[in-house]
Amino acid sequence: MKTITIYPGTFDPLTNGHLDIIERAAEIFSIVIVAVARNSSKRPLFTSHERVTMIRSCVNHLANVEVDSFEGLLVSYAKKKRANVIVRGLRAVSDFEYEFQMALTNRKLGEGLTTVYLMPHEKYTYLSSSLVREIATYGGDVSGFVPELVEEKLKKKLKKR
Ligand code: ADP
Repeated sequence: MKTITIYPGTFDPLTNGHLDIIERAAEIFSIVIVAVARNSSKRPLFTSHERVTMIRSCVNHLANVEVDSFEGLLVSYAKKKRANVIVRGLRAVSDFEYEFQMALTNRKLGEGLTTVYLMPHEKYTYLSSSLVREIATYGGDVSGFVPELVEEKLKKKLKKR
């Protein structure tokens, strides 16, 4: 059976932790759709278009990975894409409570939709987009936390502000 998987998130910006999850998912599932949330209540640093373009460049070595953006309910988007699995990353126990609530809600709202959790390499378990944004804002070195392209875009973006 072909398993179409959606990996949703804000990805503001994509980190090496996200990339680790995408690579793991691409090995397991037939198609992985990285879906950038456009309606996040967080005020993102990068526009959804910028986030999609950046991710696309960073995953072009993975033939079964697509990048898209979505607005509204994830279950509606999953239905439109005929996806049967949602992938999320689990870093620490602190992620668990929110993820548990989301997984059960999406299971209730979207029949036949299963959420699968993948753990990144332990070197990425402390990493988050907000941490990367904070370091970059104060001129710190984010190489090793994000792909090179993201590092360049962060520098450009923060210079303009
Ligand atoms: P959201 O706002 O939906 O949490 P994020 O972009 O912060 O979006 O994260 C998207 C997904 O990637 C979430 O499942 C999150 O737990 C996971 N994730 C974030 N950072 C990492 C990381 N360093 N390693 C593994 N998974 C991560």
